[in-house]
Amino acid sequence: MLIVMRQDATAEQVAHVMETVREHGFDPKPVPGAERTAVCVLGNRGPVEAALFESLAGVSECIRVSKPYKLVSRDTHPKNTVVEVHGVSFGDGRGLGMIAGPCAVESRDQIFRVGEALAQRGVRLFRAGAFKPRTSPYAFQGLGEEGLALLDEVRRQFGVGLVTEAIDHENFDKVEAVVDIVQIGARNMQNFSLLRRAGKSSKPILLKRGMSATIEELLMAAEYIVSGGNSQVILCERGVRTFADHTRNTLDLSSIPVVKQVSHLPIIADPSHAAGKWDFVIPLSMGAVGVGADGLIVEVHPEPEKALSDGAQSLTLKNFDELLRRLQG
Ligand code: PEP
Ligand code: MN
Repeated sequence: MLIVMRQDATAEQVAHVMETVREHGFDPKPVPGAERTAVCVLGNRGPVEAALFESLAGVSECIRVSKPYKLVSRDTHPKNTVVEVHGVSFGDGRGLGMIAGPCAVESRDQIFRVGEALAQRGVRLFRAGAFKPRTSPYAFQGLGEEGLALLDEVRRQFGVGLVTEAIDHENFDKVEAVVDIVQIGARNMQNFSLLRRAGKSSKPILLKRGMSATIEELLMAAEYIVSGGNSQVILCERGVRTFADHTRNTLDLSSIPVVKQVSHLPIIADPSHAAGKWDFVIPLSMGAVGVGADGLIVEVHPEPEKALSDGAQSLTLKNFDELLRRLQG
């Protein structure tokens, strides 16, 4: 339930409503708005009786929220959430937030080369995995803490912000200490204890859609983070599994306008993991922008043929230039 306060409600009246919600054994969460404040009632197992709150001073109306996610729903927060990181804005409806970099940190030489080249091209958010969630235990698992230290050096050298994935509790703390955005990958979208940890983080979270997750499941995963206290969540459509095998995954373009209709959170697209092949990354990027994506996360490698992971889907620097040209045109 959402208790909407009157425009002229005082801070004391809001506090009294919150206290009353608590007295009934629920968890009140204030949702400040541009015009008026609302109080979201969480922790209820069934429907909440509106009459409990309707007559309290300063209350305008009580709205039943029947969806299984509340705080990330537009019902409770009609305006877009804008996540600002390192001078890049996601969700303001104007520019496109760009995140680019290689799949993984592989070596000092590789990460410095691509970090410098992307910074020169105006990229302000640099991605690269230090801890890699690989399908095969024999595949390159990332450089771990050494990779994080290299990323930190790249940040200091070229002034870029960092986006990297935390794959478990243990490395969440380490990743959080270094990066500007903590990524939770597709394989961990429903790792609920990791989502709760992300909810306690002071850093924005990039939450990728699981490869077989519905939009509702994605939004419930985001609800874990937001209800834990972290409202800085960027969603990411990275393709889902379908019968089609001409691409690695099927980029579900329709998820972008659907998410924007039902949620106020920004959503970006990852055309690289969707396509699996570099030559489709530019057309899928254009498609994602066309349907309203708030940004892109793109894999770029100085020598894709030598990449230790996801080389086939990585753009060369020349191809990344072409993407930037197309986006400007
Ligand atoms: C990645 O971004 O490197 C990654 C592993 O992506 P996903 O979780 O979408 O597969
Ligand atoms: Mn990758």
